[in-house]
Parts: sequence; C-alpha cells; structure tokens
Amino acid sequence: MGFFTRKKTQILPTSKDLEREYRSAQEKNQFYLLTILILFRYLKDFSFDLKEIRADEYKETIDLLSQRFESNEKTKKLMRLFETSKSEIPDFISRERDYFSHKDTEFKNIIQILSSGIATLDSENQDFNLRIQEESLKLEKMSQLDDIRKLKSELEAEVALLKNIVKEKKGRDAKQMQFLSNEVEDLKTELKKTKDASLTDGLSGAYNRAAFDAHIMSLVSSAKPAFSLLMLDIDDFKQINDTHGHRVGDRVIMALVQKCKNLIRGDDFLARYGGEEFVMVLPGANLKQATKKAQAICKEIAGTQYALDDSRQNPPLRFSVSIGVSSFQKQDTVESIIERADKALYQAKRSGKNRALNEDDLR
Ligand code: GH3
Ligand code: MG
Ligand code: MG
Repeated sequence: MGFFTRKKTQILPTSKDLEREYRSAQEKNQFYLLTILILFRYLKDFSFDLKEIRADEYKETIDLLSQRFESNEKTKKLMRLFETSKSEIPDFISRERDYFSHKDTEFKNIIQILSSGIATLDSENQDFNLRIQEESLKLEKMSQLDDIRKLKSELEAEVALLKNIVKEKKGRDAKQMQFLSNEVEDLKTELKKTKDASLTDGLSGAYNRAAFDAHIMSLVSSAKPAFSLLMLDIDDFKQINDTHGHRVGDRVIMALVQKCKNLIRGDDFLARYGGEEFVMVLPGANLKQATKKAQAICKEIAGTQYALDDSRQNPPLRFSVSIGVSSFQKQDTVESIIERADKALYQAKRSGKNRALNEDDLR
C-alpha cells in the first residue's frame, strides 16, 4: 500500500509542479528565441553591403527569418522555413570570403602595377615609389576586412597623388619641350644666317663664287632641264676706279647688282664671279632667250645715269657692261659651259664692249 502511495506521488506531479515547469519552459523558450534573434541580427550586421555577392537578398532572408521567429508561428512551420532558408547563410559567407580573397588579389595586382609604373618614372618620384612599395608590403600582411577597407582609402589617396605627380610632370615636360623647340628654332635661324652669310658676297649682296660653284655643279650633274649662263663684266672699270675712286667703284658694283636683280626672274641665279665680273644662271632659257635677256641688261645699264653727288657741277656717271652667253648642252661639264660664255664675253669686249654675244657668235 505504502509502495503504491509513493509511486502515485512520483508519477503525478502537482499542478504547482506543472505550472513551475511550464513557466520554466516558457522562460527557456523566450531566452532561446531572444538568442536566435540576436544571432540573426549579428549575421546581418556582420555582413558587407556588397551588390556583387547579393548581400541584399541575404539580408532579406535574415529579416524574414527574424520576423517569422518573432511572430509566434507554429513550430513546424518555422522548422520548414528554417530548413529551406538555412543554406543561404553559409552560401553567403562563402561568397563573401571568395569576394574578399579576389579583391585582395586585385589590390595586390594594382599595387604591383602602380609600383612598376612609378619605378619607370624619373628619380623625382622615388619618394612616391617607396611609399607604394611600403603599402604593398603592408598588404602582404593584411587579411582582415577592415584593413582592406583602410587600404582601399589609402590607395585612393595614393592614386590621387600619383595622378597629380604625373600631371605636374607632364606640365614640366611640356615646358621643357617648348623651351627645347624654341632653342632648336633659334639654332636653325642662326644656322640659316651663317649659311646665307657664307654664300653671299658682302659688298653686293649677290651670291658669291662658292655658292655659284655649288649651284652650277648641281645643275650640270642632275638631269635638270636646259639653262643658260650669262657672264658679265663691267666695261673699263679700272678707269671708273681711277677717275672717281674706289668708293664710287664699289657703288657701281652695288648699283649693277640691283639693276640685274630687277631685270631677272625670281628663280634666276645671280652671283659675283670675282672682281667686277658676274654670272647669271637662267633656268629654262635657251640660247636665243638668254641672249635677248643679256642684250636687254646691256641696254638698260648703259642707258642709266648715276648722280655722284648733289652738286650739279659733277656730271652724272654712266657705265656699261659686256656679256657672254652660253647654253647648256648634253655633253657639258661645269668648265665647258663656263668656258664658252667666257669666250663670248671676250669676243664682246674685242668687238667694242657694251654688248652681249653668245657662243654661236664665236663661229
Ligand atoms: P674691261 O672693259 O676690259 O673689262 O676693262 P676693266 O678696266 O673693267 O678691266 P680690268 O680687269 O683691267 O680691271 C678691273 C678692275 O676692277 C681692277 C680692280 O681693281 C677693280 N675691282 C675689282 N673688284 C673691285 C671692287 O670690289 N671694288 C672696286 N672699287 N674695284 C674693284
Ligand atoms: Mg674683268
Ligand atoms: Mg671689266
């Protein structure tokens, strides 16, 4: 009997016991729910807002789970929901890990590129290069997400700095370039002046003998079209010098060159051959045309009077020239074409001066 009574009290708890147990279960339940909700919150808060790994979807799932757990739904329903959603959590974490490891590699690559890029710039940028290298060493040690965030902002600052340095350098390079090209221009001008001076006769401004030698050599050796040569000598120039002095003689030479320049064409070539002797090369002119031009020059010069000074007492000066003309022939050398013009000039002098004769008049 005693046995039964004892057993009875053990099997059947009192309503107070039940109530205590129920309350304790409820408390536990409450505590678990709270814990779960806090864990959900942590899962959400410790994830990065990154579109690339679909963080918004993941956060929506966590929110949904939190809401449903809070809303006192049937346990079975919650179990089913959790069963279908729970795989999203490790999936997201794995995506996140992949993403950051990928970004980490990307950063390393960027720093590598920056470092090697900077290394190719000049020594002025060595400071910057050193800093980039330091950053890349730091990066080696970094795996924490926060560090990568910090690194990103530092990198942005460094890149901005780099852009600035490159921009400044470009500016300096452009200035240097401008300076150098000005310098080159100046040298070119100087060179041209020197070259012109070396080819020009100081007194008359016509080309000199060296310029003529080079010019006629290039004409004869190239298969240029026909040209004619005029050899001009001032008549009785010694007498002009003797009568009026060397200064007047010089002025006569200058006046002659001016006259000739006015009478020939732009592409004709006038040079002082020596003393009071001049040569003219008329490209494209045959013997007849060149002789006509030579005669015109003779006539124009002989017909001009030069006032020696302001006084009316001194009569104006007149002078004349003689010209010999030759025309380029296929078998000609520089010497042969000059020789024929020279002979024609000699003939013009012998037959009375103040005239133009050509190579055909020699026969
Ligand atoms: P011709 O009619 O036969 O040519 O006689 P010419 O007196 O002109 O010839 P000649 O060769 O006897 O004399 C040339 C003179 O030219 C001699 C020289 O002093 C003078 N002469 C040469 N160059 C210059 C120069 O630059 N200035 C001056 N004033 N005289 C010069
Ligand atoms: Mg002479
Ligand atoms: Mg003379």
